[in-house]
Amino acid sequence: MAYEDRYLQVQRPKFDCLLFDLDDTLYPLSSGLAAQCGKNIREYMVERLGIEESNVQQLGNLLYKNYGTTMSGLRAIGYDFDYDEYHSFVHGRLPYENLKPDPVLRSLLLNLPFRKIIFTNADKIHAAKVLSRLGLEDCFEGIICFETLNPTHKTVVSDDEDDIAFARSDSTTSFTTSSENFDIVGHFSKPDAGVGALPKTAIVCKPSDHAIEQALRIANIDPQRTLFFEDSVRNIQSGKRVGLHTVLVGTSQRVKGADYALESIHNIREAIPELWEVDKKTTDVKYSGSVAVEATVTA
Ligand SMILES: [Mg+2]
Repeated sequence: MAYEDRYLQVQRPKFDCLLFDLDDTLYPLSSGLAAQCGKNIREYMVERLGIEESNVQQLGNLLYKNYGTTMSGLRAIGYDFDYDEYHSFVHGRLPYENLKPDPVLRSLLLNLPFRKIIFTNADKIHAAKVLSRLGLEDCFEGIICFETLNPTHKTVVSDDEDDIAFARSDSTTSFTTSSENFDIVGHFSKPDAGVGALPKTAIVCKPSDHAIEQALRIANIDPQRTLFFEDSVRNIQSGKRVGLHTVLVGTSQRVKGADYALESIHNIREAIPELWEVDKKTTDVKYSGSVAVEATVTA
């Protein structure tokens, strides 16, 4: 058995899970969805939250920078709104028709013998639409999305909840409403402004380390054996901090925190050839494993 153990250790693949961001990672930024999404968010802030149009750009930038998503920041500074309505407003009118089936990516994914999971800050309806347009809906074991990390404060669970492998319905989160909104623009206009005094958000999302750790726990992912694909540099850096192996997508320029950098997700094979070498080794391990089991049974 000592020989078998050694053999298995040498042959054990480095990775057993691939964790993918969705937007601008599985399809290119040039599709125009991100630009339209930003526009819709600014419209939501004006039309639904009554924020002065001239303040929206600066406020949105500050919230995105300090809270991960504009939505998360809006909650932190005291706006209360229905999360589903927000998502439907900002995602409902996206040019999904720009996304086309991607048989090349589909084939790459289906040939990689690892767990494959989506991890997005977006809501599950958006995630499902994008995957369906790309023709990738059956390529993943599950989707960790907004609803997974933020069980809604509504008690109604939608009918299609079961479609999302990691969506949770055991909501224990409660929310409070501030009567007065925190003036984050005023805060950062002071010369000694720090981030320590900023109000905390009730929303869990990337790039917070806590959000990534929670996602890993929910999906039972070992970060040391997982490759994390992302287009956002700050999400990559958080991923690195919690122990993931990281792949920056959208540029071939590696940054601090990125183990690999790919211009396009289509370049996986060229940029990370060891994933395919593992394919061969996995076959060997399976064979070796069956020998080991037989030895145990007959012992
Ligand atoms: Mg992204």
